[in-house]
Amino acid sequence: MVTLRFFGGVNEIGGNKILLEDNGTRILFDFGQSFTFGADYFTSWLSPRPINGLKDRFEFGLLPKIRGLYAKEQLAFTDFPYAEPEVDAIFLSHAHFDHVTHICFVDPQIPVYLGVGTKLFLESMEETSGFCDYRKHEYCTFRTGRKIKIGNVVVEPVHVDHSIPAAYGFLIHTSRGTIVYTGDLRMHGPRRDLSEEFVRRGKECEPDALVCEGTRMALKEKRKNYSEGQVERMSNEIVSSTDKIVFITHYSRDMDRLRSFYNVAVKNERNIVISPKTAYLLGKLIQDEHLDLPDPLKDERIHVYYKRKKSGTYDDADYFLWERQFMDKMVTCEFVQKNQGSLIMDLDFYQFAELIDIRPGKGSPFIHSMSEPFSEEDIQDAVLHNWLDHFGMQFHQLHASGHLKREQIGSLVTEINAKMVFPVHTENQHLFKQITKNAQMIKPEKEYGI
Ligand SMILES: [Zn+2]
Repeated sequence: MVTLRFFGGVNEIGGNKILLEDNGTRILFDFGQSFTFGADYFTSWLSPRPINGLKDRFEFGLLPKIRGLYAKEQLAFTDFPYAEPEVDAIFLSHAHFDHVTHICFVDPQIPVYLGVGTKLFLESMEETSGFCDYRKHEYCTFRTGRKIKIGNVVVEPVHVDHSIPAAYGFLIHTSRGTIVYTGDLRMHGPRRDLSEEFVRRGKECEPDALVCEGTRMALKEKRKNYSEGQVERMSNEIVSSTDKIVFITHYSRDMDRLRSFYNVAVKNERNIVISPKTAYLLGKLIQDEHLDLPDPLKDERIHVYYKRKKSGTYDDADYFLWERQFMDKMVTCEFVQKNQGSLIMDLDFYQFAELIDIRPGKGSPFIHSMSEPFSEEDIQDAVLHNWLDHFGMQFHQLHASGHLKREQIGSLVTEINAKMVFPVHTENQHLFKQITKNAQMIKPEKEYGI
């Protein structure tokens, strides 16, 4: 008997938790946190009490009660008894929050399989963020081409293009046939060839089941999306037609986007100013020779921006150890203020206070290279625009999504042609019915036989 159960990512975008069972072998694919996780009960400073492990989350049914999955200490105050591991492995498709976060609760005896690059992302997040801790695990890294045998199952990771490097889909060979799991993927990024290869490989398996992401599966797409190439071209137009500083903001793990802006800087003979955190992440990721990213310590085009901290004098001791390694590349607000026309600056929303010291010239462009806000009452968006208006800056919205368009989902599903299709990571499962009669409408936690 081979079964699939979906504990997350059902009728929601993100939070994938997919449990495969094959005659006693149990494997979990992704263990991420929903974007709306606990929002009905926890807000602002009211949050689950760390000392209570899973107790406060179980109270509101925020995590599934799966036997033999969780660490002993996480269950200590709950009424759910600890059991020795009954899950043989966890596979992570990529390092986005909504696919990995909950591994922090998992029993350290259960091995976690992940891409070489995904491991580097997790390390970087733990090392540079004060509150990120995935806890101890036995990590086993993979690349495309590996075949990993776990009990009765062989898992083949195959790279895909997504808005983070080292993203994978999986070909899962069970004792009753193959299941294809897409993870998150797109066809309009710089490595479309990777996603195409994944689809081809998936099709060749003549799979019994396809677990397919459907982030952009909607009747009508409300937000404007470009390809990565278009984002780069349009950013280049903005930069080449101004003599002012250009600010950009993007998702911190989207290295394709950072590379696009880096390319624009090179083309316009400007330098790019990044934060120590981004420099640290780049420094990590260049350990993976497949990723083709600039070295923050060696690349002449890269400056690293240091905020004033503690003593206010840019003293080494003011900064975390991990921040200090880029001090040779240091620029300060004074430097940026004086050299505005020769710079592109990567500036996260939460660092906007730096604008007070930088004093950008009137009309300086700001490129918002992230999703447009979900609602018109978005408070953060209103604050962002207040800041831009205050400094007389010019707003541009330019983003390429990490996900397939609706028509592309249709092509992928038709091409792979599985006997059963399970739509995950989507708010619109029912629209898959219009593509294929094989679409199953998933109910959370229900068991589906393959
Ligand atoms: Zn993702």
